[in-house]
Amino acid sequence: MLNKEEIRRYSRHLKLDDFGLRGQESLKSSKVLVIGAGGLGSPCLLYLAAAGVGTIGIIDADTVDESNLQRQIVHNTSTVGKLKVESAATTLSKLNPLITIETYAEFLSADNALDLFSQYDLIIDGCDSLAVRYLINDACVKLSKPFVYGSIYRFDGQISILATENGPCYRCLYPEPPESIPSCSEAGVLGVLPGIIGVTQATEAIKYLAGMGKPLVGQLLLMDALTNEYSTLSIKKDPQCPACGHWSLQHLGDTPDISCEVANPVKSDRELEPAHVPRYIQDNGAVLIDVRHDYEFQYSSLPGARHMSLAEILAGKYDEELLELSKDPIVLYCLGGVRSMKALNHICKISEDKGPVTIHSMSGGIKKWAKEVESIEYFQ
Ligand SMILES: [Zn+2]
Repeated sequence: MLNKEEIRRYSRHLKLDDFGLRGQESLKSSKVLVIGAGGLGSPCLLYLAAAGVGTIGIIDADTVDESNLQRQIVHNTSTVGKLKVESAATTLSKLNPLITIETYAEFLSADNALDLFSQYDLIIDGCDSLAVRYLINDACVKLSKPFVYGSIYRFDGQISILATENGPCYRCLYPEPPESIPSCSEAGVLGVLPGIIGVTQATEAIKYLAGMGKPLVGQLLLMDALTNEYSTLSIKKDPQCPACGHWSLQHLGDTPDISCEVANPVKSDRELEPAHVPRYIQDNGAVLIDVRHDYEFQYSSLPGARHMSLAEILAGKYDEELLELSKDPIVLYCLGGVRSMKALNHICKISEDKGPVTIHSMSGGIKKWAKEVESIEYFQ
């Protein structure tokens, strides 16, 4: 039952024939858990709260960073440094004091996922970590609980409702994670794109909970922000799926630990520990090359480093110069060690028929350098 205050607040919903009192009451009695109060979670949370979803849970262990504000609009400048769940809860309760907000300032893990999810009707995947996405999927499959999947990469976005009773799950699409994925901080993200995808996730959640329209079950919506093209793919449940077909996983989220933040599973003898780099350069007359973006290099760089961005290296812009430089040993670095390995592979390829080259990637990048060698400020 809606009270008078709610009838006034949600009157524009009540006027919609397909939604009406019944739809609004369904939202009021629903409990939705949003994983992550970041780029996708922010717009999604705002609209779920405004729409009158009765109970909203938010789980996120992070604090608000200045660089989040370009897209994570549930937070604001005055909440930088505060827990994201608290910052988000404050904004949402100002927007709609008639709903209940539960906060969990913790990381989602195999230990807490089942217990937490079982208290909610619908889960929203607003995470930026692939390892967490597999965990969400597996816990939802175990509990027969649907989740609204959303993801973004550069200018592209994807959305679907997965793990419904007869629909496919995330592992039906991607049984195992890919080898390497760049993070938002490595790949960059157009601020409005998570806004569009997060709001679409909220739309799907509201449709699903209110029982109206045609939710994206068995369908994957693809969006390209650069061309404004939307397309929908039919996706099917895979009888061989290791989660929803025949459960063959040892643990929830049973995958190598690949997250967007630590996206480098490559380990090789071509990596050099940051602590060994200064001595190595001195003893071998090695050339130090920073392969990050120009603005990252301009913000701060290691002493003596030259700049060649990964994109330009891969485009072949420096091929000749690199062949010349590779007469001496080369040490490459980036923010976390992913881009420098890609650059290393490219240089190895172009110098294949020129004889052996000595080239290293600084493991863990400038982040690890700042932790282990000397404290420097760097562009995150
Ligand atoms: Zn499946």
